[in-house]
Amino acid sequence: MHEVIVIGSGPAGFTAAIYTARARLSTLILTGHAVGGQAGQTADIENYPGFKDGINGFELMEAMQEQAKRFEVEVVVDTVTAVDLSQHPFTVTTHDQEYQAQALVIATGATPRKLGVPGELEFIGRGVSYCATCDGFFYRDLPVAVVGGGNSALEETNYLTRLASKITVIHRRDRLRAEPILQERAERSGKVDFEWDTVVTAVEGDKSGVKSLRLRNVKTDEESSLTVDGVFVYVGMKPNTELFRGQLNIDEWGYIVTDRHQRTSVPGVFAAGDVQERIYPQVAVAVGTGAVAGMAADKFISEMEGLTCPERGTT
Ligand code: NAP
Repeated sequence: MHEVIVIGSGPAGFTAAIYTARARLSTLILTGHAVGGQAGQTADIENYPGFKDGINGFELMEAMQEQAKRFEVEVVVDTVTAVDLSQHPFTVTTHDQEYQAQALVIATGATPRKLGVPGELEFIGRGVSYCATCDGFFYRDLPVAVVGGGNSALEETNYLTRLASKITVIHRRDRLRAEPILQERAERSGKVDFEWDTVVTAVEGDKSGVKSLRLRNVKTDEESSLTVDGVFVYVGMKPNTELFRGQLNIDEWGYIVTDRHQRTSVPGVFAAGDVQERIYPQVAVAVGTGAVAGMAADKFISEMEGLTCPERGTT
C-alpha cells in the first residue's frame, strides 16, 4: 500500500511525485516503458524556462528523476496493465505486481499517431520512426522524409538537418501549423524541401528497410514516388487513456476530463500532463499540472485522514 501512486514518468509524473514526496507521502512512480516520456526523447527543449540555451530532453528528465529520488520517491520501471478505480484504496496492476494507493496521479501522456497507410507498421524500426532523437543517428548522410506540418514535425526536421543529407517535409496542406521560427530555421539550413498538399499513400521497401514513399498530391491527384531511407511520422498525438475508459470521464478526443485542481471524475484520482491536455501540450504546462495534482493529492489524503498540512509537518 502506498499513499500515492503516480502512473507515468514524464514531466507531469515526476513533478507530481516530487510534490507528494516532499509532503511526506509515501510515493511510488510506475514509469512505463519509456522513462522520461516524450520529453525524454526530445533533442532540444528551448521553451522550458530556466535554461537560456535550451536543454536536452533526456538530461532534463534525468535531473527530474534524480530530484524525485532525493525525496525518496520509489521509482519502479514497470508498465501498468489494469487499474480498478471502483473501490478505495485503488488497485493498480502491472506486469509484475499489484499495488494499492490512497490517491492516484495519472500522467500517462500521449503517443504519436500513426499514418495508417500500407507498409507503415511493417517497416517500424526498419525505416519508419516516430522519434528522430532516438533513430536519427541511423540516417547520417542519407535522405529522409518527415510527415506532418506541426511543431513536432518541424522541430524534428531541424534536428535531422544535423544528420541526414536531405529532408523532405511532406505536408497535406500548403501552410504549416508550426511556429514560423521553426520553418525559417528549416529553410535556412539549405537541406529541407517541402512537398505541399501531399500525403503519403504507402511506405515501400525490401528486406533491408524502407526505400521509397508513394505520394499523392491532394489538389491534382498526381501520384509520385520519393526515394528515402527513412521516414519520421509526426501527425499528432493520441492520449494514453485506454486503461481508464469506462472508469473516468473522458472527452470526445479521448483526453481525461479534469478540473482546475487536476481532479478527475473519481475522488482521489488526479490527472496531469498531456493525458488531459489537448490544447497546450507543453513541458512547462505538464510541470504545472503535475505540481497541482501533487498538491491536490496531498490535500485529498489530509482531508481523508482529518489532518491539515501543518500537522503533517509539510510546507
Ligand atoms: P499537431 O500540432 O496536431 O500537428 C500535426 C500535424 O500533422 C499537422 O500539420 C496536421 O496537418 C498533420 N496531420 C494530422 N493527421 C495527418 C494525416 N493523417 N496525414 C498527414 N498529416 C496529418 O501535432 P504535433 O506537432 O505533434 O504537436 C502537438 C502539440 O504539441 C501542439 O500543440 C504543438 O504546438 C505542441 N508542441 C510544441 C512544441 C514546442 O513548443 N516547441 C514542440 C512540439 C509540439 P494539418 O496542419 O493540416 O492539420
